Amino acid sequence: MTSKPALYLKSARTKSLERRHPWIFSGAVARIDGNPMSGETVEILSEKGKFLGRGAYSPTSQILVRVWTFDEGEDIDAAFFRNRLQEAFQLRRDLLRDKDGTTALRLVNAESDGLPGVVIDRYGEIPVCQFTSAGAEKWRGEIVRQLRDLTGAATIFERSDLEVRSKEGLPPRSGLLYGADPPELVEIGEHGCRYLVDIRRGHKTGFYLDQRENRRAAGEFSSGAEVLNCFSYSGGFAVHALQGGAEKVVNIDASADALELARANILLNGLDAGRVTNLCGDVFALLRRFRDEGRRFNLIILDPPKFADSRHQLPGACRGYKDINLLAFKLLKPGGTLFTFSCSGMMEPDLFQKIVADAALDAGRRAAVIKRLFQGEDHPVALNFPEGAYLKGLICRVL
Ligand code: SAH
Repeated sequence: MTSKPALYLKSARTKSLERRHPWIFSGAVARIDGNPMSGETVEILSEKGKFLGRGAYSPTSQILVRVWTFDEGEDIDAAFFRNRLQEAFQLRRDLLRDKDGTTALRLVNAESDGLPGVVIDRYGEIPVCQFTSAGAEKWRGEIVRQLRDLTGAATIFERSDLEVRSKEGLPPRSGLLYGADPPELVEIGEHGCRYLVDIRRGHKTGFYLDQRENRRAAGEFSSGAEVLNCFSYSGGFAVHALQGGAEKVVNIDASADALELARANILLNGLDAGRVTNLCGDVFALLRRFRDEGRRFNLIILDPPKFADSRHQLPGACRGYKDINLLAFKLLKPGGTLFTFSCSGMMEPDLFQKIVADAALDAGRRAAVIKRLFQGEDHPVALNFPEGAYLKGLICRVL
């Protein structure tokens, strides 16, 4: 008999856990012994009492438990978090070596690094943490202690101000976790480009680190190009495009703050701001306006926010992707290139490609995929957690 709270799974519902998928849905649970608190560690057992794992209990979430370990010999304590962090750093050893001036990366990618609900991004010397599950919240103090010890960081910041926290019964939270206040803007390097990141108020933890390799790829398609950078945020793609020799760049974003930062980032790199037009507005509307005005571009980037949070939002998301891709195909010059992305985890890569194919068809353009794109290697996808693969993209060439 164990004194820890124990959760027994229905016999027919143990398969996914045996394949080491880290989520347990409430419908899979036969019964719970003890009275676990939110975030508390529970033993996960088969109905006959065989050990299956150990995880964090989250009574308000549909995902009732997120598994910390499948190893009976591994306790959930300070040493556990230290080991998991070290493993995550080890996986990223090449990126951490800071080749070609890349100083920002994701250090911990939640489930895929064996730490459900824990995201840690590093901007220069400053780690920024996101705790999105009850278990991560319970252990935040220990995680920050181990992170501080392993990295020697003088400042650790928190950006747990996400909507998903409410599903775990947690309030949004952000601010200093350790050390001195961070600067208003933190400078980072990415493949030879420099950016200012607003870790206090920016999106996510401040920057879309998952697009690092794809921004570099876009730079390689930019020589002499007129570029339309849709959903530009702080100019991530724009800076790479200008470094890559773009003639002109039009950035579109709904956020005036993001565009202001995009301008600062272009100047920071010593690039010619005269080649850049920033338009604050709705991409859907502005693409239509450009179509009506007969505007044409050599390179178009479509990097929209997540259109679908749940399965029932998928049809609407499909229409949204179809719409912007169709308009983009119409705006491309012959021989032009489209970089098109979806960061909706619900959107399967094959369905996304089909939508893009329909968009080209309806736009009356012949196009071919010349490359499939994915999230960067610091956003790994554990093989037991395919849900971790959310970002997908296509580079399409039109005739
Ligand atoms: N490409 C960026 C990240 C884009 S994130 C990079 O590499 O950093 C998505 C952006 O789309 C956000 O900045 C958000 O403000 C903007 N956005 C969301 N909906 C929009 C809309 N309908 N029209 C214009 N911008 C929008």
